[in-house]
Amino acid sequence: MPELFFQVQGPQGRPYEIMIRKIGKNMTATCTCSAGVDDICQHRINILSGSTQEIIGTNADDVKKVVSWIAGTDVGKAMHHMVESIKLLENAQEDFNSARKRLVKALKD
Ligand SMILES: [Zn+2]
Repeated sequence: MPELFFQVQGPQGRPYEIMIRKIGKNMTATCTCSAGVDDICQHRINILSGSTQEIIGTNADDVKKVVSWIAGTDVGKAMHHMVESIKLLENAQEDFNSARKRLVKALKD
């Protein structure tokens, strides 16, 4: 079972521990930080996105392995959905901004 562990800098010099495991099409990623319990923390997002900048320790190169595991997994599908949702949200924000400008202009003339 492929499983990797990382450490990132935590408060008062105590690192957070991140575990990432892949079994078939299921990936699991846990982090010991407070956001890691019931939400998405930036530590895992960074690693899943290929960033090594916060990693302390000597295995930052293993992040490439994690990234190679993502395609076709539940985490990969969920990440893809998040990216698509962000694009929709950005488009909706642009539409809203345009609509608002039209209303401002319409109110003036
Ligand atoms: Zn975390």
